[in-house]
Amino acid sequence: MANFNDPKHVDPQDLGAPTLGTPRRMPSSVPSRVIPILNATAAPPAPAGDGVGCHGGKETMQQAAAAAGMSDTIERYKADYPAGPHDQPQSMCPAFGSLRVGLRMRRTATILSGSACCVYGLTFTSHFYGARRTVGYVPFNSETLVTGKLFEDIREAVFETAKPADYDAVVIINLCVPTASGVPLRLLPKEIDGVRIIGIDVPGFGVPTHAEAKDVLAGAMLAYARTEAEQGPVAAPRNGVSDRPTVTLLGEMFPADPVGIGRMLEPMGLAAGPVVPTREWRELYAALDCAVVGAIHPFYTASVREFEAAGRTVVGSAPVGYDGTAAWLEKIGESCGIPKARIEAAKQAVLPAIRAALAAAPIKGRVTLSGYEGSELLVGRLLVESGADVRYVGTACPRTRWSDADREWLEAKGVRVQFRASLEQDLAAMAEFEPDLAVGTTPVVQKAKELAIPALYFTNLISARPLMGPAGAGSLSQVVNAAMRSKPRFDTMKAFFAGVGEGHTSGVWEGTPVDRPAFREQYARTLARQAKARKAEETH
Ligand code: SF4
Repeated sequence: MANFNDPKHVDPQDLGAPTLGTPRRMPSSVPSRVIPILNATAAPPAPAGDGVGCHGGKETMQQAAAAAGMSDTIERYKADYPAGPHDQPQSMCPAFGSLRVGLRMRRTATILSGSACCVYGLTFTSHFYGARRTVGYVPFNSETLVTGKLFEDIREAVFETAKPADYDAVVIINLCVPTASGVPLRLLPKEIDGVRIIGIDVPGFGVPTHAEAKDVLAGAMLAYARTEAEQGPVAAPRNGVSDRPTVTLLGEMFPADPVGIGRMLEPMGLAAGPVVPTREWRELYAALDCAVVGAIHPFYTASVREFEAAGRTVVGSAPVGYDGTAAWLEKIGESCGIPKARIEAAKQAVLPAIRAALAAAPIKGRVTLSGYEGSELLVGRLLVESGADVRYVGTACPRTRWSDADREWLEAKGVRVQFRASLEQDLAAMAEFEPDLAVGTTPVVQKAKELAIPALYFTNLISARPLMGPAGAGSLSQVVNAAMRSKPRFDTMKAFFAGVGEGHTSGVWEGTPVDRPAFREQYARTLARQAKARKAEETH
């Protein structure tokens, strides 16, 4: 990890300076900025957002951000990523979504500004998922936060990093505390020696899921690229410009899926365009230069705003299963003005193969499904068409107009669809429907296994398979059927371990645990006495 705030680079005089002049190691051509600095002769007061994180209370952090001049950002996030019906789904730190998008792009540097514990968790997760890229880090303390020195440190890090030989873009991500404290990334230069500078705020108290955090960065990059394209010629894609109108695919997907979608589009004279989030800056121009956008994942609100600003139509759902593929090809064809006969030709070229693949790989059994990737409804459709008795589909993502078609289709088949699903709702659905297989997030899978219900982790085992067209139609059955067949093994394990690690046997023991109800009662009485004493103290 690159630490841009190495103590040997810090000039102690900077800390007490009332204004900051030209920062060190910056080209003299760069105009200096005077930013408001508090008088730091006394010990600086802790900023409202300092010292708290995702445990500090969403409202407190939002109030701090508003007081620090971030109201516009917070209000935009509230509109783009509505939280209801409950507060916030339980998932990993949202900023991981933005970080991952940045780390997967060629010639793009990604720098975090936030608390060390957050950055540790985020870099750990990045490398767990095989980032193999450096994560930049600009640390802070209460003093650098409150005096504005943190912004200068970020600015310096950006100038040090933005070398055109190495990078097309530098992304700097404000995590919770710098966002709540109003660290003004908007004041960073937009470009340094041709390297684009993209500053985004991705606080956990404003962006509910890591899925939507991908949209925050993808949307910011599309906005930048759209402005560039409006001002003059831009770089062509690495593989040249398509000779056919293209369909930009919005949402990360299994690598073979865009190839399969391209084949399905061919009879209509269309081609698959880039997948957004892109893997390279210049792909952003090609993505904007499409005939139509397929919102394969339906939560990319900020990205859709950019496509619509560029005059592009956005179509929801995806070519999954028989019904989904037929409807998607129709909508895409109609949006591009393709004659009906050619749309029919495209459907007939692929639908029989999908029907055959579904029939050859049936799934028999009851399934509940939940996840936070944004593709949950698509997977639900595929499972239903494969013959599974799907009762519940929960997603951490919000309901949007691009998921309407999938929601309506699933509900018509009797499936309960829950947007912004909480862990409690996912677990309640599992308890209610007693499935033969629970597909879900880590805690759902853990609970299912405790109950001897076969379970599959959505992100690693379901997302990592093709979903679209004929390839997708048969791909789920193998893993799903194998998991369902493991039920007797789960029953054997449950019987073998019955009573272990539950109740009085919980914990680590050297000998055989002995139940001591008298001790338990005595301890319960002690706790009750302490609680009563605390209450009495509070009322005096
Ligand atoms: S950046 Fe992520 S881990 Fe850190 S406080 Fe915010 S939500 Fe929590």
